[in-house]
Amino acid sequence: MLVGRKYRLALDSEQSEVAEGFGDICRAVWNTGLEQRRAYRQRGGWMSYVQQAREMAEAKSEHPWLRAAPSHILQQTLRDLDRACRAHGTFSVRWKSKTRWRPSFRFPDPKQITVERLNRKWARVRLPKLGWVRFRWTRPLDGAVKAATLSRDGAQWHISFLVETGRKAPAVSLERGRVGVDRGVVFAAATDDGRFFDRTFISPGEAARYRRLQQQLARTRKGSKRRKSCMGKMGRIMRRVRNRRRDFHARTACRIVDGNALVVLERLPVRNMTASARGTVSRPGTKVRQKAGLNRAILDKGWHGLELAIRNRARKTGAVVRKVNPAYTSQTCPVCGHVDSNSRKSQAKFVCTSCGYAEHADTVGAKNTLARGHTGFRAWRPRGCPVREAPTDSRGNPAASSLGHRAGNSPASAAGRNVNLILGA
Ligand SMILES: [Zn+2]
Repeated sequence: MLVGRKYRLALDSEQSEVAEGFGDICRAVWNTGLEQRRAYRQRGGWMSYVQQAREMAEAKSEHPWLRAAPSHILQQTLRDLDRACRAHGTFSVRWKSKTRWRPSFRFPDPKQITVERLNRKWARVRLPKLGWVRFRWTRPLDGAVKAATLSRDGAQWHISFLVETGRKAPAVSLERGRVGVDRGVVFAAATDDGRFFDRTFISPGEAARYRRLQQQLARTRKGSKRRKSCMGKMGRIMRRVRNRRRDFHARTACRIVDGNALVVLERLPVRNMTASARGTVSRPGTKVRQKAGLNRAILDKGWHGLELAIRNRARKTGAVVRKVNPAYTSQTCPVCGHVDSNSRKSQAKFVCTSCGYAEHADTVGAKNTLARGHTGFRAWRPRGCPVREAPTDSRGNPAASSLGHRAGNSPASAAGRNVNLILGA
């Protein structure tokens, strides 16, 4: 199994200058390559990776500064560009701007990467044209290095090794459970068994400080020292926020995935949902302010990041992750299958207009999501494997009698449930 291992690099000032230089060259190669690809596309042609790599090799005699970086990382940049253009279309791929880009480049050849352990806390890696670079040994590599990526976030450089552990994902134990997940705005995630996961990522003090820095930034001149230092301070706050969010996603993913054979998520078109409500001049959108606030809330919970963390965890435990259409999952009664938008009394409250079943709306969403995901789940199960299958009604929803198999599923417990929050900031 391929896994990533990330460590903190300790570059000396000369090395960080060299690394910065590699980043600049990669950025120039990306932008030039993209410009060339766009020019070709406009004339109806297509530039291939092979052609671009050859032209870059030729360009080295004309532009000697290109030779300062190892050719492998430049080729890798062109390969990444090629992949991005194929996946998203040449005109959707972005330029790498000097101010916004966080430098990152990849050494794709394991033969050129040597890792040595120095002592209990430190190890070093030999990289082309950078030499020996020390990094903080916080965990074992646990396999053969396939590639290494250097990246900078703020002032700190990191190295990520792509490692082949040689292990396979364990076969899914079919006796294990299944879980439905509802990602929400109020709680980052709710599961069908009534658990809720959430945490705040920015403390009130940090938020106030960030707002003050924004005001300060507005008063600075472009290119000034004060502006740079202000942006550095804002970057440090946001980096802390990002780290907390990533940590929360990893922990939540473990608590959701572990012990389950199937994880069902709803397919959320995050990009459409967060698209601006501003509209056009001739047809202005409505509720622009509210939508802007919602956008912040959606992006703040990091739904995509949680999904990535869940998939990553599932890769290790062997669980299957499925995504289902979320239409009406918040309006359908998980007990009688009645669909009515009036059942959703408020953001948090669900009371069925037909049978009176009451539950937290996010839990209802998670239950319906799970019910949708496990139709056809039998298909990949080996024959002769005795598994308790929840009875379902004609719509594929779990029948009323099957819902009591987990604690906290009865309507009566809806009020007194324990909210499983990971608090702190
Ligand atoms: Zn009902």
